[in-house]
Amino acid sequence: MEWGTLRAEQPVVTQLLQHAVWRERLPHAYIFEGEDRDEQLGAAFLLARAFLCSNNDPAAKPCNQCSECKRVQSGQHPDIIIIRSDGLSIKKAQVEFLQKEFAYKGMESTRKAYIIEEADKMTTSAANSLLASLEEPEGEALAILETENLHFLLPTIVSRSQVISFRPLSEASRQAHLREKGETEEVAAIKARVGNKPTSLEDGERTNWIVQGRQVVIQLAEEVFQRPLQAKWLLQDKWHTHFNDREGLDTGLDFLLFWYRDVLYTKWGREDLAYPDQLERLKTEALNRSESMLAAQMKAVMEAKRYLAANVNPQLLMERLLLRLQEGSNFASSDWHSL
Ligand SMILES: [Zn+2]
Repeated sequence: MEWGTLRAEQPVVTQLLQHAVWRERLPHAYIFEGEDRDEQLGAAFLLARAFLCSNNDPAAKPCNQCSECKRVQSGQHPDIIIIRSDGLSIKKAQVEFLQKEFAYKGMESTRKAYIIEEADKMTTSAANSLLASLEEPEGEALAILETENLHFLLPTIVSRSQVISFRPLSEASRQAHLREKGETEEVAAIKARVGNKPTSLEDGERTNWIVQGRQVVIQLAEEVFQRPLQAKWLLQDKWHTHFNDREGLDTGLDFLLFWYRDVLYTKWGREDLAYPDQLERLKTEALNRSESMLAAQMKAVMEAKRYLAANVNPQLLMERLLLRLQEGSNFASSDWHSL
C-alpha cells in the first residue's frame, strides 16, 4: 500500500499519520481499529516503513534508497516484526519473543517497528506482558496494534496507545470487496448496503435470502407502479412469508427504499445502484415519476421503518404503506396515526 491509495479511502487517517511521521511526533503505540483488516494492516506496514526510513519526507514517503528502506525491500525486514495469532490466540511467549528481539537488535540499529495483527486475540498474560513494554519502551520502537474489536483490548493498553479509527468502507469499495470474494453483482450491491442484516442468518443463508428478497421487492415495486390494485395480494402471497420477522421486515423496507432511490438516481444519471441489473425497469419508472413523487415514496418507506420500530402490526403497516406508495404526495402523514 502507498499513501495515495490509503488517502482515497481514509483521508483523515492518512493526513494524521503523514504529519506525525514528518514531524517525528509518533507515540510509542498506535491502535488501528476498524472493519477492514486488509486496509488496516496495509496502513500499518506503510507506517512502519515510513517510520524506519532515515530520510524525512514531508509526505512521509519511504525513500526506497536508504539502507533501512533497502532492508525492508529485500523482503526480510528484520526491523519490522509481525505477530499474529495461531488461529485462536496470541500467546505470552510470542510477546516475550518480540521483547527479546528488540532488546537484542536494539544494539545494532536505531529503530524498530512491530505490528500485532488481531491484537484483541492476545491472552490476558500476553497483553500484560505487552503492557510492561508500553510502560517502559526501550529505544526507538513503534508498536502498531491492529483490531476489528477495540472493546476486547485491555483498557490499560488502550489508554497507553493512540487510537486511530478507520472509517467504514464506502458502499462502492465494500461492493468491490464482495465481488472479489465471489458474490454476484446483484447480491454484492445489496449486501454492501445492508451490511450483515438480518443478523439472525448465517452468511451463506443471507445470500439466498437476499436473492429471494430482492425479487419480492422488485415485484412489489412493479405492481405498485403498473397494477396498484393487485399489489396487496402480493403482500399476502410473498412479502409477509419472506419478510416474516421484525428485523427481516425492516431489511425488506431498506430494499424497497433502495428501489425508489435507484429510480431517482437513474433520473439523475447516477450509476451507483442497488439494483444494477434492473436498469431498464428503473429507467421506465424514472420517466414516469416526478422527483417529488419519488421523494414522497422514499419518505413513506422511511416513516414505515419508524412505525415498525414502534411495534405496530406488520400487516396493517404494509397495507398502509402500499396506499401511500400509490398515492404519493396526496397522502397525509396523519394517516399513519390510526395504526
Ligand atoms: Zn528510506
